[in-house]
Order: sequence, then C-alpha cells, then structure tokens
Amino acid sequence: METKRDYYEVLGVKRTASVDEIKKAYRKLAMQYHPDRNPNDKTAEQKFKEAAEAYAILSDPEKRAQYDQFGHSLGGYGFQGFEGFADAFSGFGDIFGDLFEDFFGSGTGSRGRQRARRGSDLETAVEITLEDVLTGKEETLEIWRHETCGECKGSGAEAGSKRTPCQDCGGRGELRMTQGFFTLRRTCPSCDGEGEKIETLCSRCRGKGRIKQKRTLKVRIPPGMIANSHLKITGEGESGEAAGPRGDLYVKVIVKSHPVFERHDADLYCEVTIPYTLAVFGGEISVPTIDGKSSLKIPSGTPGGKIFKIKEMGLPVLGHSKMRGDQFVRIDIEIPTKLTDAERKLLQEYAKCRGEKIQTRKKNFFDQIKDSF
Ligand SMILES: [Zn+2]
Ligand SMILES: [Zn+2]
Repeated sequence: METKRDYYEVLGVKRTASVDEIKKAYRKLAMQYHPDRNPNDKTAEQKFKEAAEAYAILSDPEKRAQYDQFGHSLGGYGFQGFEGFADAFSGFGDIFGDLFEDFFGSGTGSRGRQRARRGSDLETAVEITLEDVLTGKEETLEIWRHETCGECKGSGAEAGSKRTPCQDCGGRGELRMTQGFFTLRRTCPSCDGEGEKIETLCSRCRGKGRIKQKRTLKVRIPPGMIANSHLKITGEGESGEAAGPRGDLYVKVIVKSHPVFERHDADLYCEVTIPYTLAVFGGEISVPTIDGKSSLKIPSGTPGGKIFKIKEMGLPVLGHSKMRGDQFVRIDIEIPTKLTDAERKLLQEYAKCRGEKIQTRKKNFFDQIKDSF
C-alpha cells in the first residue's frame, strides 16, 4: 500500500486551520481537479479523490480529532473503490449544495437501470384471548399485498414485447447539462431513471410488474406474547421490484381484556369474594385459574384485602415457555345487605356477646398496602 499524504498537506492548510479555511481550500482543489474538467486525466482524478478524502475527515470535528491524534494509522478512512468515490461526491455536494440542488433535485442523479428494490413492509393486527397467551395460537391471516405479476414475471412487459433504450436519455437514465465547467446530471423523467422503456405494457399488471392480491397466511403466535407488541414475519411483506427481496410483515398482537384476570407481565390478578364466616373460621376455597381451577387455603381470621399468591399459575414468560408467572388472589369479604329475621336475630346476639365497639387506629393507607404483600 502506498503511503498517504498528510490531509493538511493535501489541502494546503495549517493544522490550526478553521473549518472555513478547510472548506475554502477544498473548494479550490475540487474545482481545479474535478473529473468533468479534466476528462481522462488519471492524475487529476487521483488528486480530486485525495482532496475529497482529506475534506471528509477534516470537516468532521470528531474524525478530525481522531486524525490529529492517530494520523493515518487508525485506518478505516481510506477510500476504497467506487463507494469511496461516491463519498467524495457527497462531500463535494455539501459545499456546492445550493448550486447542485437546483439541478439534482432531491435525488442523487443517476440511478442506473432497473434497480432492484426491496418490497415495503406491511402491518396487520390480530386479536387473541388471555388463554391464547397461555398456550400460543396458530392464527390464519388474510392480507392484501403486492405479488410479482405471474404473467410477465415482474418485468411489466407483454409477452414478446421488449425493453428498448429510452430515447430521451439515450439509455443512460439521466440527463446531462453543462453549466460552466460542470456537467450536471438529473434523473430522466421519461423513463424514471431506468434507461429503458417497455414497448407494450403487460396487460395484466399494466406494466407495474406487480399485482395486489389477497393472501392467506398461517402465523404461529408464541405463548407469553406481550400485548400490543409486533411479531416480525420475515419476507412476507410486499414483493420487491425488479427481483428485489420481499419486505417483512409485522403482526400487531392485541390481547382482549379478560372477564376475571388482569395481567401484569406474566402475573395474573383476580379478586374473590368470600363470606364473612369463612374469613373467620378459615377453610379451603376453589379459585379460577387461567388453566381451570385451583384450591386455596384461607387461614382463619383472614382480613378483607389480603392477597394470596398461587405460585406459577400465571402466564408463560415469552421465550421461556416453561417459566410461568404467579397468580395473585385478593380476598374480598361479603357483607350481607339483606338479612332475614332469623339472621338479624343471630347477628344481634353475636354483637351483644362481643360487646362490639368501633376501634380507631392511626395507620396510613400506604402502610396497609405494603403490609398486604
Ligand atoms: Zn405483468
Ligand atoms: Zn430516459
């Protein structure tokens, strides 16, 4: 590998040069050595690239600082082949931005012919239940998407019809214009930069090469799917253009609200109401779980608001189907609102026995919530 000249030396500026001085120096060199001004002059082309590279580094404060510290030894900034050259032009464009924009528009000039383009991504949504989150689900989706036209195999040309070079740009895909000593280029509007035109358009897709079609897809939703997250299904988006790859399909998974359970990550919460006497005496109750039912032991003297944990009866953890969250059960105590005469009599007797009074304790609600866990 040949030794590289110092970037400051290339631009002919001091190491302390300001950004403006660097810009000015580069502008001068770029104009002097621009390939359009020096056709078939390898030395000029070399000098142009060298100046562009030096400018690309020295005009970027971060890269300049690295260069000042490490010089060329750091590597990675070398201009290799075509891409480097394209970079040189983009650096060039920065300086002459105003001048170039008028002619290039927002495009980049030449696009070459029939460039393969990746198809767009698509998004769709499915709604599943909390039970589906437990087990996972295979869902059948119907989506409308662009498919490569089977008639013309995506070429857009009717059978037997050929592509002919575009007359307006001579098949180059771009129009050239001379302005002073620059040759300015812009995308040919007639062929949209393809450089070619189709003689007779495919009658099925009208030359688009793609047709919108309804497709049925089977999608496996894994257990533990997080609500409103997206499943990415690679390669099931729109078909690409000119043999470009397909886009991806994103499936948004909506989880319906459940009549019994509330979900927090992999944990499930529910509330059960038990009679007052059961809270006093204790006993075993049956509580609903996402799988069915489970029994829960209520110790005697259980206060209202008490929360019990049933281990590993929650939902699977996404990506770890054998790990499950927990289920939390909050106990609510039923206070009867209608009493029969017999019940009323018994309760009055009970109250009398206990000599029941109202008790007041100083305790804030925050502590109560903490205590319940
Ligand atoms: Zn077609
Ligand atoms: Zn054209």
